[in-house]
Amino acid sequence: DLTNPIILGDAELAYEGALRPQSLAEFVGQEKVRGQLQLLLTAATMQQRTPDHILLAGPPGLGKTTLAMIVAYEGSRPLRMSSGPAIQHAGDLAAVLSSLMPGEVLFIDEIHRMARSAEEMLYLAMEDFRIDIMVGKGAGATSVPLELAPFTLVGATTRAGLLPNPLRDRFGFTAHLEFYAEHELEQVLTRAAPLLGLSIEKRALAEIAGRSRGTPRIANRLLRRVRDYALVHGGEANLEAVHAALELYDVDPIGLDRLDREVMKIILTRFGGGPVGLNTLAVSVGEEAETVEAVVEPFLVRIGFLTRTPRGRVATPSAWSHFGLSHPQAGLT
Ligand code: ADP
Repeated sequence: DLTNPIILGDAELAYEGALRPQSLAEFVGQEKVRGQLQLLLTAATMQQRTPDHILLAGPPGLGKTTLAMIVAYEGSRPLRMSSGPAIQHAGDLAAVLSSLMPGEVLFIDEIHRMARSAEEMLYLAMEDFRIDIMVGKGAGATSVPLELAPFTLVGATTRAGLLPNPLRDRFGFTAHLEFYAEHELEQVLTRAAPLLGLSIEKRALAEIAGRSRGTPRIANRLLRRVRDYALVHGGEANLEAVHAALELYDVDPIGLDRLDREVMKIILTRFGGGPVGLNTLAVSVGEEAETVEAVVEPFLVRIGFLTRTPRGRVATPSAWSHFGLSHPQAGLT
């Protein structure tokens, strides 16, 4: 039943899985981070120990989950996947930690959203591979230490700054993932197209790469929409199909999506270009402040449309001209 959104969602997830590189060598771009990870993993292998804990920071879709899987594959280690929102009590974390196999890689996505009580348990677990379990209630309660198998924690967060310092300090290394250059996204797409059974012109791939917001997940997703378009219209996956499909899905010529545009337009039209505070901005677009800050803003900053100042967010002259508006005070200066 192709109209069932749940089944469609699963199909998209399955594609995403099929497109994931399985080794550092296959992982496109992020030169710096790849070098850092390679060194850390090789040293651990030479010393026959579990690699240090790793924190991966960066906007969604840049490859954090993929890198966690690669850390496991490259060391032939089992992988356990969890996420901050799934760990709402220390007990949830104790259950995961106490069932880890020796050398297992534990991936916790959105680790900044884990419950505070679990965070404290995690400090001890990361440092000493040990946790204290509370047994009983009230005056008779005692804490019983429990030894854990040595493991490697790979945490992912949209912003390292969202983590409390004591947690951040317990990672051996923090990798900051950057948005991808267009030629790197082209490489991602060139690899993905045959995996989707799609033959597509090189200039069509370049066009998709230029509209992918510097993000491999978005590039892969747009590629699938272009494939759909070519399939339904019985045509080739060429530049025309790219233009038509991306117009249908509201992706503008530089890759901005609906929310990106809405944030910029509100700053420009309702707040005269800023400065406007994050919370005011978030309320105006009906999103959580964390989403605006960690998902929307980094790309707008990266393309030079937005600056973050102590007094708030300010639109740049290139943002005014991209949206075809003139700065209200332009004539005065
Ligand atoms: P995150 O966990 O940061 O949100 P993912 O690791 O889930 O991102 O990556 C999203 C998609 O993008 C996956 O399908 C993955 O295959 C692809 N991808 C991400 N980074 C790369 C890369 N460097 N090279 C190739 N594909 C990538």
